Amino acid sequence: MAGIYIHIPFCKAKCRYCDFTSYPGKLGISDAYMACVFKEMKLRAPELRNKRFDTVYFGGGTPSVIDPMSIVGCMNLVRSDYNLADDAEVTIEVNPGTVTAEKISLYKKAGINRFSVGLQSANDRILSDLGRIHTAKDFEVACDLIGDANLNADVMIGLKDQTLKDIDDAVMLASKCGAKHISLYALTPEDGTPIYTDYLNGELPDADEVADQYDHARALLKELGYLRYEVSNFAKKGFQSGHNLNYWRRGEYIGFGVAASSFIGGRRFTNTADLDDYIKCIMTNYYPVVDDGMVEGDDAKFEMVMLALRTSEGLSLAKYKNEFGTDFPVDFFEPLKKNVKFLECKNGRVRIKDKYLYVQNRILTDFLH
Ligand code: SF4
Repeated sequence: MAGIYIHIPFCKAKCRYCDFTSYPGKLGISDAYMACVFKEMKLRAPELRNKRFDTVYFGGGTPSVIDPMSIVGCMNLVRSDYNLADDAEVTIEVNPGTVTAEKISLYKKAGINRFSVGLQSANDRILSDLGRIHTAKDFEVACDLIGDANLNADVMIGLKDQTLKDIDDAVMLASKCGAKHISLYALTPEDGTPIYTDYLNGELPDADEVADQYDHARALLKELGYLRYEVSNFAKKGFQSGHNLNYWRRGEYIGFGVAASSFIGGRRFTNTADLDDYIKCIMTNYYPVVDDGMVEGDDAKFEMVMLALRTSEGLSLAKYKNEFGTDFPVDFFEPLKKNVKFLECKNGRVRIKDKYLYVQNRILTDFLH
């Protein structure tokens, strides 16, 4: 299994919490940028000719803000130059403030069969405070346009003046609008973002309050039939994100566009996050890679453990042995002994017990050699 990721770094406006590689105000160069993405995809195609891809993911930024014909063009290129499975999962991230019926129709014709819509909150005051460009009503309209296609909604917790009712309202709205998958993220106030000031001012809920919000949301999600399969991801049966599961299973993926990362043949590499540098490199026939290296030995082992233990399926002992030729309980004897009460082993898999999954970071630190 392998995935294709395409990064679209344009947004209408910068949200107050955003630390992603996104450039508001540069939409004017999106056509030129996409021409470079097409070229990068063409350049990479020969070396990936024999690889089968099962997922495509348009992430950002806001992929739905650019000319939809560029998304159609990307999909045509994926089909002509890459070996894409007939039943591939093809996802696009959508901001409710940027969609039209025409765009959704073109996306569907291009083969997009999964829509990830950023709701974040059903409270318009909170949305405005976050700097989001849409209202809760816009989310409903976007979902109506998307129709009965596979839908994910992003919901945030840990927000300023956010009540448990606000969280219930967001989850209920996503559910009412037909979401088969809900991603529940806690706000991370990153240094350098405007929201960091709120954090410094003590205006955001502390870690214990956020943990309570998470437990509260998780209980509601369970009641509504959304099963947790990763610490932040909940899905109706059969609607887990194949693209993200591939990341957590340490599967291969190729990333195109500014700041995109790839993992192919044991090698991880990342493109520059500088938009001008990215365009210059591609125009002069260079790969815009700034970070590149094989992941081997203990690093590779830790990586597999760290990714797998985020998920409810956990780590396959057989897969570990097959990959590294050694036994997980032997390699990680000390951290396993220290964390035994947080873990369980069933059917050849080790996983963090359900009630401790939210605090997995504290547990995983011990596995880092
Ligand atoms: S829409 Fe997403 S990528 Fe764009 S600024 Fe907001 S959070 Fe960042």
